[in-house]
Amino acid sequence: MYCVCKEHLELALDLFVDEYEEAPDVYALNELKFTAWEPPAQCERCGEAPEYLVI
Ligand SMILES: [Zn+2]
Repeated sequence: MYCVCKEHLELALDLFVDEYEEAPDVYALNELKFTAWEPPAQCERCGEAPEYLVI
């Protein structure tokens, strides 16, 4: 699972496919609401706010 900004979405998709050998689902974080999980404050690859959850 990756939380990334728009710039690193493509990278996260590649990493996901490499690791799990199947296509991920991508969700826009601003369209999701979790009660038990807070998305990280930063993209995993840079300091920007993450926009997408790749799962
Ligand atoms: Zn990023």
